[in-house]
Amino acid sequence: MRALMQERQLLISSLIEHAATYHPDTEIVSRTCEGTTVRSSYREIRSRAKQLAKALVAMGVKPGDRVGTLAWNTHRHMELYFAVSGIGAVLHTVNPRLFPEQIEYIVNHAEDKVLFFDITFAGLIGKLRPHLGTVERFVAMTDSAHLPAEAGDCAAYEDVIGAQDDQLDWPQFPETEASSLCYTSGTTGNPKGVLYSHRSTLLHSFTACSTDGLKLSSRDSVLLAVPLFHVNAWGIPYASAMCGAKVVLPGPWLDGKSLFELAAEENCNFSLGVPTVWLGFLKYIEETPGLDLSRIKLERVVIGGSAAPRAIIEKLHHLLGAETLHAWGMSETSPLGTIGNLLPKHRDLPIEEQITIRAKQGRAIYGVELRITNEDGQPLAHDGETSGDLKVRGPWVTAGYFKGEGGEVLDEDGWFATGDVACIDREGYIRLTDRSKDVIKSGGEWISSIDLENAAVAHPAVQEAAVIGLPHPKWQERPLLLVIRKPQAEPEKQEILDFLSDRVAKWWLPDDVVFVDELPHTATGKLQKNKLREQFRDFTFNT
Ligand code: AMP
Repeated sequence: MRALMQERQLLISSLIEHAATYHPDTEIVSRTCEGTTVRSSYREIRSRAKQLAKALVAMGVKPGDRVGTLAWNTHRHMELYFAVSGIGAVLHTVNPRLFPEQIEYIVNHAEDKVLFFDITFAGLIGKLRPHLGTVERFVAMTDSAHLPAEAGDCAAYEDVIGAQDDQLDWPQFPETEASSLCYTSGTTGNPKGVLYSHRSTLLHSFTACSTDGLKLSSRDSVLLAVPLFHVNAWGIPYASAMCGAKVVLPGPWLDGKSLFELAAEENCNFSLGVPTVWLGFLKYIEETPGLDLSRIKLERVVIGGSAAPRAIIEKLHHLLGAETLHAWGMSETSPLGTIGNLLPKHRDLPIEEQITIRAKQGRAIYGVELRITNEDGQPLAHDGETSGDLKVRGPWVTAGYFKGEGGEVLDEDGWFATGDVACIDREGYIRLTDRSKDVIKSGGEWISSIDLENAAVAHPAVQEAAVIGLPHPKWQERPLLLVIRKPQAEPEKQEILDFLSDRVAKWWLPDDVVFVDELPHTATGKLQKNKLREQFRDFTFNT
């Protein structure tokens, strides 16, 4: 029997309508590429998003067309989030940290019709534009006074929207239509596009706003330290509009000092970012004498994208009194998959034990089903020890890649193989032990490179660590530890190994330690182990 409920569609336009109606004066504060700070509000964001929507229609953008952005976290970028999806077009946020050839590939693959860019990328646009055949219009996200010459012929964002009024009723269409497109950074092969829907985006937003999710609400002032080009800034622009949270956008400045000042000035109590951002933030605090830490009011910090080292979680707690919500996810999961909230029974545990739980990657949230399987696809026990291939399914998990790249990605029961290796404990907390291609297979057993790296960075003289498996005549593979030392620190190889031997099983101990000056990272800050394996291909263990 068909139900008798209204079938109003879950559309992104309804988010900004709600925010502008019920939280009209809530601020959106933005540092801009021109070096100013713009204070706007949900009322203004809606108004300008509607002007922009009309401008896009006037440019010939039709439902389903892709509109690209190459931009930092600013109010203009947030307006694009609502304007583009609001008219049924697809917002394609391009990661500007990728190599120019990758950007060219992605824009061409997505067939972007219009490309909006920040003035900091004018030179890049100037070089790339002869190769971007589908792009009909280039728009610099600035006013006419700051139009950059290097980009070639382009319009100024403020002129584009200034030519329109804000009288617009958002079109209604099925919630299953595409709303945005993000390409996975992928350490190998060409990037692949994940195409989100209005429905998946709104369901994901409800989770961010739920108490056992990210607890986002109208009392929050959000320091958005995760870029708008990184999996839709983890869905926060949408979720913030849903609940009326204040959003603070750092522009291109994600260094420790800039984030510290912004968080202090705007009373931010909630923030999100990858571990590298928090390392920079904490480094600034530790290396700047006389800072008044009471100016920082952070209560919750979401860390994801790579494993959050325990030391970061500890420092956020001990220095700032902030709780870390360690989250796991990927472009293919919108990205929220698991969130590291504590259960009621953990509340009275000593703080160090609580931190141990927070250092895991969290538990599945409603809407996300998780399981681990062996090489034959058989489900494995959730006992906290057995590790296997992590599979996921749910209404905000991808069913395939844009234009069918990569072929069929779901198994016959609808599970998506994440490429991560994890164990799941009895309470449902997952602990990522590796990417499946990075796992070290030693004597028929698996060694977790992530566990070894986490143990190594706990050493006070270690700034960053990477562990890779290299071929070994007897054991098949053995771990090699690569370490960047902290400035002025001179630890010996043996000292590091002794330190590790108290923390990991003896047969896990790396067969060698090499001190390096830098480690290669992807555009989203992940270690590029394939590069390291290549670099150390001819390394031989002495053992
Ligand atoms: P991306 O799609 O570029 O965001 O990358 C997703 C991948 O990042 C996942 O498959 C994981 O390998 C990794 N990742 C995300 N969150 C975490 C986390 N909290 N701990 C460890 N790895 C993570």
